Amino acid sequence: MSERAHAILSASGSHIWLNCTKSGELSMHPDAPQRRGSVYAAEGTAAHDLAETCLREDKDADLYIGLDFQGFKVTPEMADAVQVYLDHCRSLPAISFYIEQNITLAKLWERDGLKCPTPLFGTSDFLALNAETLFVTDYKHGVGVPVEAVGNTQFLYYGLGGLFHILERGFQLPKQVTMTVVQPRAPHKDGPVRSWTIPTIDLFVWADTVLMPAVMSVIAGDTTYQTGQHCRWCPHAGQCPALRKQALTVARTQFDDVTATPPSPNLIPLEELGAILEQAELISGWVSQVRAVVSEAIEKGHKIDGWKLVPKRATRKWVDEEAVSTIIEANHILTDSFYTPPQIKSPAQVEAILKRDKRTLSDIGLDQFITAESSGTTLAPDADSRPAAATGPQTTFEDVDL
Ligand code: SF4
Repeated sequence: MSERAHAILSASGSHIWLNCTKSGELSMHPDAPQRRGSVYAAEGTAAHDLAETCLREDKDADLYIGLDFQGFKVTPEMADAVQVYLDHCRSLPAISFYIEQNITLAKLWERDGLKCPTPLFGTSDFLALNAETLFVTDYKHGVGVPVEAVGNTQFLYYGLGGLFHILERGFQLPKQVTMTVVQPRAPHKDGPVRSWTIPTIDLFVWADTVLMPAVMSVIAGDTTYQTGQHCRWCPHAGQCPALRKQALTVARTQFDDVTATPPSPNLIPLEELGAILEQAELISGWVSQVRAVVSEAIEKGHKIDGWKLVPKRATRKWVDEEAVSTIIEANHILTDSFYTPPQIKSPAQVEAILKRDKRTLSDIGLDQFITAESSGTTLAPDADSRPAAATGPQTTFEDVDL
């Protein structure tokens, strides 16, 4: 498997350092905090490895169920998600393709005889090319935040790198670049595969007018903090004076006395709550970063007044399932109640199995037994790409013509 290296001014962090060049400048320091990994990110890396293996070996993802990738067992859910990405990559009208391709943007400077002032590189999940189009496809395994293709600077970064990559291999520049995100596990109104196509020339204009000036600002030691939604992902958020100032300003506008108990939300007029929640999102992101910095400091042995680390709630599990089975049988216990019976696979898994025989759910009449049910609703800002759920009186009195 390919080991993924990340530039300090990375593609995935570009929405942060392009919006706030101070963040990029802070990341240049040798002891700068890194963006934190999580179990979800590690699972995403495992899913990427599975996808890479499937593409290189030309196999479907469900053949690897139960196998270990980067410490994660491939589950049917992971296989289903990765298969959506594989199907998309394999459907592209390509004359040439590259899997997990290392890309660099150094040529942006080298074309003018200059040296790239800082390494700008990354790994593009999948590049495919024909005479008209360079296809840049990125797999996202995350469930939390649906990623937009349109306007996504990570994809612009990979797109540029992809163009330099194919130029080096003697191909002509294509007319356009299609950037696609495949994110099967996060619901989005446009479905799991979303694309954005722009003329190739626009990508170079963006490089000249946005990316290169931002890189030069970072290198010049720009000191302008620019707070915004991107701060939520910034590795410097926990120590950022601009974000701290903004959080305190917001808190002071909501509470005259910051030591007092906050007013009950039930007593705040409904028309004010939206604005409060918007500001609270920024503060809660900052508080999460502060928590992470404090936890890390305590882990490293530092003393933080008033705080300590405690074990999370433990869940019990069998250490030897074979021995447990023996004891159950020896005690003549009704064994059925001690076992989870086999369950029928999910519609997506059954669909994948049928696909191998070139059949569909409807071919054998299974589609009529499928229903899609959301487990509830969750609060999201208006800008969120998911359609709003039906709420209010309509949901209670469906037959009433309101
Ligand atoms: S947290 Fe601070 S340094 Fe990071 S992006 Fe926001 S304003 Fe910039």
